[in-house]
Amino acid sequence: MAVPLMQAVRVGRYVVKQHLLGRKRYPLVLMLEPLFRCNLACAGCGKIDYPAQILNQRLSVQECLDADAEADAPVIAIAGGEPLLHKEMPEIVKGLTARKKYVYLCTNGLLLEKKLDDYEPNPFFSWDIHLDGDKAMHDSSVCQEGVYERAVAAIRKAKERGFRVSINCTLFDGANPERVAKFFDEVMALGVDGVMTAPGYAYERAPDQEHFLNRQKTKQLFRDIFRLGKGKKWRFTQSPLFLNFLAGNENYHCTPWGKPLRTVFGWQRPCYLLGEGYAKTFKELMDDTAWEQYGTGAYEKCADCMVHSGYESTAVMDAVKRPWHIAKVALFGPETEKPMAPEISLENQRPAEYKYEAQVAEQVTLLDSRKPARGPRVRVHKAKEEQVAVADAAD
Ligand code: SF4
Repeated sequence: MAVPLMQAVRVGRYVVKQHLLGRKRYPLVLMLEPLFRCNLACAGCGKIDYPAQILNQRLSVQECLDADAEADAPVIAIAGGEPLLHKEMPEIVKGLTARKKYVYLCTNGLLLEKKLDDYEPNPFFSWDIHLDGDKAMHDSSVCQEGVYERAVAAIRKAKERGFRVSINCTLFDGANPERVAKFFDEVMALGVDGVMTAPGYAYERAPDQEHFLNRQKTKQLFRDIFRLGKGKKWRFTQSPLFLNFLAGNENYHCTPWGKPLRTVFGWQRPCYLLGEGYAKTFKELMDDTAWEQYGTGAYEKCADCMVHSGYESTAVMDAVKRPWHIAKVALFGPETEKPMAPEISLENQRPAEYKYEAQVAEQVTLLDSRKPARGPRVRVHKAKEEQVAVADAAD
């Protein structure tokens, strides 16, 4: 099983409890981005586009624990940036798993072998390693030769040491279904516990804007992959109904509050993919966000999105409402031959708003205002900041 039974039971119990309590909105997975800095510059990302002052910011251990206390979701995914550049990451993981939260630590794997001794296998902890396909596909996706081999070596080492390991596979336009299917066979043979897959989201700062999938292409690609996977024992960490959605069989609307994101800017509105504003507290995020303004059909930037960030929570909630439906899909796999579910109309979506430059300017002003006022101290402080940045990048 890709997700341990106890984890599935706990998450199921949590969802049922929220329904019984009549909570309209609740988080399933807390997303933490304790830093934006990364040691790669992937074509489909763009997070490292921030100025150095912002890239040097970190959420502290306490801020991460406080974010967990505020959201109180059963599962936590730590992403970034590259989380293994954060020097206090072992402490963050220890603190969260001690609270019996299921923690997925997302990494590109480059530092994993070096840092493995800082972590211990734990039923509440899993590595989630970025692999966007076979060697040629992945190295092209991360714009660097040799990354695939280092990630695979790290997976082997982590499995030898007894860690749970899943992979995170983002697919882009031009992905070949046969190659992806073969890649899934290979990672299963490597012994990974599960695969998390999704189409890439068209981040507005991503250097490559040519290779994002639209919804029609996404559905066809996943149908073709799942058809090739019939009868194979691929283990996915996602809900079978989310996979069914990827294959074009569910008419789901987005649930952006299902995976709230805390970054160094605060609580991001509305989701992990889209930074349209920030709330100071989790409560403010939940209560004061105009959620109806987001999702496919509501907002231009959401038009092509089919990412787990917004749609997996919808699938999980559907499973509670229609347990017979998830049982059928879990047993027989996603439908690959029948007509697809009707697509959401984009007729009434509101146009995209572009807020990145203003947000960056606001954050830089805020950081500048926190610097000590006296001249010489500013210089010493700046020098220290630069040292930290260089040390982190060189790690
Ligand atoms: S559809 Fe939902 S998850 Fe996707 S970008 Fe829009 S708000 Fe975010």
